[in-house]
Amino acid sequence: MKYDNAMSTRQIDSISLPVTSPGTQRQLKVIRYGNPGARPSAYLQTALHADEIPGMLVLHHLDGLLYEADKAGNVSGAVVLVPVANPVGLSQYIRGHLSGRFELGNGVNFNRNYPNVTDEVANRVSSGLSHAADENVALIRQHVSTVVAEHPAPDEVSFMRKTLLMLACDADICLDLHCDAEAVMHVYLGTPLWPDAMDLPAQLGSEATLLAEVSGGHPFDEAAGGIWWSLAKRFPDFPIPPACLSATVELRGGRNVSHGLARRDADNLFRFLIRRGLIEGDPGPLPELLAAAMPLEGVDTVQAPCAGVVVYLKEPGDHVTAGEAVLEIVDPWSDAPDSSVTRVCSRVSGVMYSHRSDRLTRPGQTLCRIAGADPLPDRVGVNLLSD
Ligand SMILES: [Zn+2]
Repeated sequence: MKYDNAMSTRQIDSISLPVTSPGTQRQLKVIRYGNPGARPSAYLQTALHADEIPGMLVLHHLDGLLYEADKAGNVSGAVVLVPVANPVGLSQYIRGHLSGRFELGNGVNFNRNYPNVTDEVANRVSSGLSHAADENVALIRQHVSTVVAEHPAPDEVSFMRKTLLMLACDADICLDLHCDAEAVMHVYLGTPLWPDAMDLPAQLGSEATLLAEVSGGHPFDEAAGGIWWSLAKRFPDFPIPPACLSATVELRGGRNVSHGLARRDADNLFRFLIRRGLIEGDPGPLPELLAAAMPLEGVDTVQAPCAGVVVYLKEPGDHVTAGEAVLEIVDPWSDAPDSSVTRVCSRVSGVMYSHRSDRLTRPGQTLCRIAGADPLPDRVGVNLLSD
């Protein structure tokens, strides 16, 4: 397809990140559809962890769908795409291997530590809130944008974090597209967004939906969406709805990159945007939700009790029952064959939605995740995200 931006609302911005070493400068590329200020608005980014590739192909196909819709005059809201959200991480090649997820310079996860502006926004809006929810939403959005813009960002990665949040923080919909190691489609959402946001996992064919109000570490999706329920708690006398449907979408496993899957996912995101009023058209019937939403506190993160070779007895998408063996660890160094195999069981009944891709483990590594219905005692009140 030949893009002709002169015939469309499609605009491309390039935002330069601060120079971190002489002779290098990286950019964020931002693709925009729709008239400035149009509502509803959606923000979609991908590859925040850098080595998570499926979303890049999904946004490529979604861009094509949006372009066609735009040419037909059917983009009534505004859509912002950031198809490569982390050019810093993408540069981290070590001996031929792309090393994403953590910033090599300091070991910090790229999806943690987003600016938390709740306190400052609360200070600025406290005297201006009213009993009209839509007025409160407009007031809060205006101050969130200002306070994020004022947030100090002295280095390349903090500037990148701040810029991504700036692009997302006043959107009605914010979708952060990731992937897991080996996994089925699954979605993380803020608990206050449920069940209103059910159309997202239903349309995507998500096989697990995990809900948390605060998961710990202040990841991107909670920085964009969580401020709404934080402010609602601070100001219980005023109506403050969860005005940003913010989600982390895990597009299966890292190797699930194909035109077939990406076209299907892009088509489902496009239908979701139609249903949410950003694009004119018929979204078709909403597919049935494949699996009930579960609390993130109910996820059994199965740990390796010992070192050895991991043999999975269950695969992502399989349903397991509490007490059922989900994997074995074989110790190749064992003195006797009958003592070389350790079976590991699930603590919960539910769907195994992801497991690691490597097959050698060390004690304490999280090997797989199973979505149970009830909070597990050791998952309540703790950081729910993995490193
Ligand atoms: Zn990720």
